[in-house]
Amino acid sequence: MESHDGCVFCQIVAGKVPADIIYRLPSLVAFRDTNPQAPDHVLIVSTEHYDSLATCDDAVLLGDMLRAAHEVARKVHVDHGGYRVVVNTGKHGGQTVPHLHFHIMGGRRMQWPPG
Ligand code: AMP
Ligand code: ZN
Repeated sequence: MESHDGCVFCQIVAGKVPADIIYRLPSLVAFRDTNPQAPDHVLIVSTEHYDSLATCDDAVLLGDMLRAAHEVARKVHVDHGGYRVVVNTGKHGGQTVPHLHFHIMGGRRMQWPPG
């Protein structure tokens, strides 16, 4: 498994940085965001390092991540109330950690348009 030195999400995947992990598949790990923007805010990160959605061509992985979004929502009990899935991509997308990840946010009513 290729791990990028200095990438915090690779370190979480490898168990070298602690995280509140709530779901795991061979292709992904889901854990709570340490700076939550909603009562329930979980990140789904790919096990393999990709810089962003823009550089990931693994459709099976991306399908796994989207399906995991609903599984995560179920696990944190926001599946009935509803939730939002966000994939910040690149500078204008607001991405701050350059490792492919999906945000799953729920527990409050989201607003539209997003900021
Ligand atoms: P983004 O800005 O879309 O790249 O999202 C990165 C997210 O990672 C932010 O919401 C951060 O709060 C979150 N984050 C950064 N480091 C950690 C960490 N060690 N454990 C959990 N979440 C983190
Ligand atoms: Zn990484």
